[in-house]
Amino acid sequence: MDIKSNHSAPILTDPTPINKPRLGLYDALLPYSSGAVFLTVPWKNPAVNNWLDAMKSSSPTHQKLTKDSGIDMSANDVAVAYCNWLVKYPSALTSFEHIMNNAKGKRIALFLDYDGTLSPIVDNPDLAFMSDAMRAAVKNVAKYIPTAIISGRSRDKVHEFVGLQELYYAGSHGMDIMGPGKEGEEGNLFQPASEFLPMINEVLKSLVEIAKEIKGAKVENNKFCVSVHYRNVEEKNWQTVAQYVENILKHYPRLRLTHGRKVLEVRPVLKWDKGKAVEFLLESLGLSNCDDVVPIYVGDDRTDEDAFKFLREFGGGFGILVSCAPKESSAFYSLRDPSEVMEFLKLLVMNKKSSPL
Ligand SMILES: [Mg+2]
Repeated sequence: MDIKSNHSAPILTDPTPINKPRLGLYDALLPYSSGAVFLTVPWKNPAVNNWLDAMKSSSPTHQKLTKDSGIDMSANDVAVAYCNWLVKYPSALTSFEHIMNNAKGKRIALFLDYDGTLSPIVDNPDLAFMSDAMRAAVKNVAKYIPTAIISGRSRDKVHEFVGLQELYYAGSHGMDIMGPGKEGEEGNLFQPASEFLPMINEVLKSLVEIAKEIKGAKVENNKFCVSVHYRNVEEKNWQTVAQYVENILKHYPRLRLTHGRKVLEVRPVLKWDKGKAVEFLLESLGLSNCDDVVPIYVGDDRTDEDAFKFLREFGGGFGILVSCAPKESSAFYSLRDPSEVMEFLKLLVMNKKSSPL
């Protein structure tokens, strides 16, 4: 299926060209105007301490919950806190019937994050493999429901991890979208940040160099964004990571920094995120009418919140946050971990088999 949309023309709030007409490349590739919006506020040299705070809060854990509360919480207390949190974000497994009742007579579209959703979070991001059982579950659900993987990773990398041809893939937080089939087929590729590529590659080289000076730091090339993983960096050195990244980014006002789970991500100053990617894909699939479509997005990361927020605005869909610890989210439901995600996918298949549209 071609990737196309009736989206409105792009609104560019910053009239200064970078080095060629904006959006030219993908306009040439696709019968689509993206609606991509350049942010009016570029990266502003924030205090490193602010970044450090964000780094520390980017991956809430049971330990953090304990520390923040100032109370030495027992395992039982943590379990109680999680149960209380479930009242606000009910399990998508126990609420499955309710979810399906809302989807009755409507088409479902499924959007899945990769890391921490389909695969476990691991110390080495190159080894974040999904299980064969999970792959089979995703393959199965895609037979019944249009399914897209939306990841901060490069599209090639996440495609390699998942290994299924029949899915839509959105890499680089949705800045690199490909439909099922082969790359290069006309109308099959959408890359709203193409013109940033030379700049991103420059920054990538600089970040790779500085990462060599910080034990445990790892830089990942995600094509239209760059990740600096600090999961394996001692916490006392996190400030050094933030400082080094700041020193590089101050030369690139058209790039900005976002936070993921133990990862800093350098991205173009372009209002394009996982939420925009979901909107784009729904339109491409002809599923943008909230009266008869229920989009479901499953993700675990702060960057998935953009998609959760979009689904709230969309009206008919809902987000499912994957988390084993309480945290605020724009999602409606929750799942504890990737194994529960797999159970949810299996339930979707069983439901489709028993009540096909
Ligand atoms: Mg994730």
